[in-house]
Amino acid sequence: MTAELISGTQIRKDMLAEIKEEVVAMKEKHGQGPGLVTILVGANPASISYVTLKVKTALELGFHEIQDDQPEDISEADLLALIEKYNTDPKIHGILVQLPLPKHIDDKKVLNAINPDKDVDGFHPVNVGRLMIGGDEVLFPPCTPAGIQEMIKRSGTETSGAEVVVVGRSNIVGKPIAIMMAQKGEAANSTVTIVHTRTKDLAAHCKRADILVVAAGVPDLVKPEWIKPGSTVIDVGVNRVGMNEATGKAILKGDVDFDAAKEIAGKITPVPGGVGPMTIAMLMQNTLRAAWKHLGE
Ligand code: NAP
Repeated sequence: MTAELISGTQIRKDMLAEIKEEVVAMKEKHGQGPGLVTILVGANPASISYVTLKVKTALELGFHEIQDDQPEDISEADLLALIEKYNTDPKIHGILVQLPLPKHIDDKKVLNAINPDKDVDGFHPVNVGRLMIGGDEVLFPPCTPAGIQEMIKRSGTETSGAEVVVVGRSNIVGKPIAIMMAQKGEAANSTVTIVHTRTKDLAAHCKRADILVVAAGVPDLVKPEWIKPGSTVIDVGVNRVGMNEATGKAILKGDVDFDAAKEIAGKITPVPGGVGPMTIAMLMQNTLRAAWKHLGE
């Protein structure tokens, strides 16, 4: 059997078209669209390319977008003051501070200074707490786990009562997706197991997963014989395993042995083109949600 491919590239395209329509409706009704500020400190090349893509996407959707670039040597106090300025700016509904920050700045202090109602990355402790409570409390699910759940939902995978095994327990992927899948609600209600480097028999856990989410950062960690036939496999891993000399681009591999796994799984995400493209779509969705909330809807 060859698994059905869950394409993040296609789902992102569909989602962005849906968001764009809502932005038009928001502007017609309220005379303003969602506002997003992206704050970039310094000139880390990877951060520049992430911010550029976020800004481009926001502009294409018709958002009010401010790219606020700051020098590498900005003081922590000045950065905190800048965040406070956007916390009280009524045209800005989402504040994004691109990480990593320079060493002299405490990221935790900066992220905690963002008004939780504008924290579209979902990293503020208030939003992490809301995610834990679930239901209507959740304002901004963190973008990568939200993208994973959206892919599971749009692929038509049954989640209610399903055994979900999450490989990895990071704060940005493993822990939040595990909580989200265990909550009551749509695309959730699953029975969840989290595994990590101290797990005794990783293979045995993976083998019983109806939905296997792998976020370890280890190329080809998951072997084909660990995959339950017909299951849904979501590979979050992005590992640079070499350089394509012809294109000058990095060769990326996931945490799952894709070529072998696709012959066993029922549905599977590729790397690249799987979870990666979803993160930005979820960021835009969170900003849209922040704007609707601000407008009282
Ligand atoms: P992380 O903070 O390094 O966490 C990795 C987790 O995997 C840890 O909990 C670790 O266990 C576990 N792990 C590592 N090796 C393992 C092994 N051999 N067996 C079992 N568990 C193992 O990583 P992350 O930030 O969650 O990211 C994970 C991967 O997803 C990376 O490749 C990253 O690039 C990718 N990622 C992609 C996106 C995207 O596409 N948008 C976003 C975020 C991350 P311990 O806790 O025991 O150390």
